[in-house]
Amino acid sequence: MSSNELIKIFLSEDVGAPAYKVVRALAERGSASAIELSRHTGLAKSTMSALVAELKDASVIIEPEPSKDARASSRGRPAVQLSLNPQAGTSVGVLPGPDFIGIALVDAAHGIRDERSVEIKPNYSVDQGVEAVAELVQQAYAATGLQRETLLGVGLAMPGPFNHRTGVMLRSTLLPNWVDLDIGAHFAKRFDVPVIADNESNCAAIAEMTWGAALGQQDFLYAKFDEGVGGAVIVDGRVLRGALGAAGEIGHFMVDPDGPLCTCGSRGCLEAMMRWDAIVRPARALFGENITFPQIAGRAQEGDPGCVRLISDAAAAAGRALAGICAVLNPPLIVVGGRYVLAGEVFLRAMQESFDRHFHIRDQTDGGSVTPIVAGTFSNNRDSTLGAVGLVLREKPFTRSA
Ligand SMILES: [Zn+2]
Repeated sequence: MSSNELIKIFLSEDVGAPAYKVVRALAERGSASAIELSRHTGLAKSTMSALVAELKDASVIIEPEPSKDARASSRGRPAVQLSLNPQAGTSVGVLPGPDFIGIALVDAAHGIRDERSVEIKPNYSVDQGVEAVAELVQQAYAATGLQRETLLGVGLAMPGPFNHRTGVMLRSTLLPNWVDLDIGAHFAKRFDVPVIADNESNCAAIAEMTWGAALGQQDFLYAKFDEGVGGAVIVDGRVLRGALGAAGEIGHFMVDPDGPLCTCGSRGCLEAMMRWDAIVRPARALFGENITFPQIAGRAQEGDPGCVRLISDAAAAAGRALAGICAVLNPPLIVVGGRYVLAGEVFLRAMQESFDRHFHIRDQTDGGSVTPIVAGTFSNNRDSTLGAVGLVLREKPFTRSA
């Protein structure tokens, strides 16, 4: 298996090599024509066709669906789509949750081949997590018939602010035993491949960009409204990380200086107004002690007036915050994830109305908003595990075993 040319090129240090550029461009896109690859890599079209032929011979790339028409009409410059050989390269994404671990196994042509998870006792250590992941990964390869030796890298979606320069999670209420550790090094002991980590919201944005509602978008704002509030900023197809990896943390955007106290010590942060707790507490007066956030979201969608009020007030705060953020960034699209989306249009419409009321550019379009807010494709935790795979396919590792 050491003769796997795809892995050799993908993991090469020679980042200026034409083959490296082509393999990385395909890893990021899933598929592309030779002309698109020329445009993206800056390689001449003649160089590209020779290189494509070479990489096909080496089983690094394939033509997934060769179209006779496309071939006949374009001598020498086939418009057919190319992709990396799905049998030769695979990636694993991992979400270490508070009491479960989820993984996804994806091939190099972006085919989602397996997704599975296992329960684990809360407050588990990194090494216990690594062992559980290793077990799941083994099961996934066995179930799909893919070769474990084709693994290109492991991506991790971390439930807390993550410093991508140091590879350390700064804090996390969900995984307290994982804070301040070189997590990549722990994984590298078990997986002799590059390990790349990022926070969950950045991963979710990458999943939406690779498979979901932001497919093909180079610029957008991602906002996750779940138990907490997070987000990501995508510029030119890249995650904007900022000095400490905290770019896109929209949860601590201040909406009301006199608002409720936030866990960060400030007042009126968006997260302080939208965290589940802030919604569930007042709902108990109406529905009893056992009401949960997903139930409130569901009842709002069914039209219960009290639940509509709670969700639409939160949505109004979100719209106000997003309008402030977009006054700086002016993205063409906002993609929204997290379980607030369970409330459907009650949430999305109230947020869009509030956004449009507070955003400084108005009435430029006939009826639609200048900044549409759309629900993401992935619900629950799939966005994080798939986005963690996207890290492997799109990003450079922060750590790597010898
Ligand atoms: Zn805060």
